[in-house]
Amino acid sequence: MKITQNTVVTIDYTLKNESGDTIDSVSDGSFSYLHGASNIIPGLERELQDKQAEDEVSVDIAPVDAYGERDPAMQQVVSKDMFEDVEHIDVGKQFHAQTPDGDPLVITVVGVEDDQITIDGNHPLAGVPLHFDVKIISVREASEEEIAHGHVHGPDGHQH
Ligand code: ZN
Repeated sequence: MKITQNTVVTIDYTLKNESGDTIDSVSDGSFSYLHGASNIIPGLERELQDKQAEDEVSVDIAPVDAYGERDPAMQQVVSKDMFEDVEHIDVGKQFHAQTPDGDPLVITVVGVEDDQITIDGNHPLAGVPLHFDVKIISVREASEEEIAHGHVHGPDGHQH
């Protein structure tokens, strides 16, 4: 069957950046998503529409269709005092935080100078053009419960 709204799609994929470095890879059929529910980035969801099992898709996706452009305002310098665990503040360290609206946010330390820490709330892949090589493993209809929840249930999905 074809990939359409409210199908559960299992894919293997390799995600690379512009330089060809592998950022993420799944090759054991362990990744499934609910199509049309914004479980994956918009550019990839659009490319997979109407494909079917065993199809292979190789696609470049611009930041606007992936994790968005970088927002310079999301980067700021703060005092080391803001961190409880000051012994272990290194560039590249990530913290989970919340936006004022309560949305989850990953903060990355991008600079450490004396007691000044530069943090960046942009998604690590914001502004990064992506390349996906995807193999579609299987496509099935979603259950009513999965559609209502907006995500996949089962061995590799939510267990409830
Ligand atoms: Zn659920």
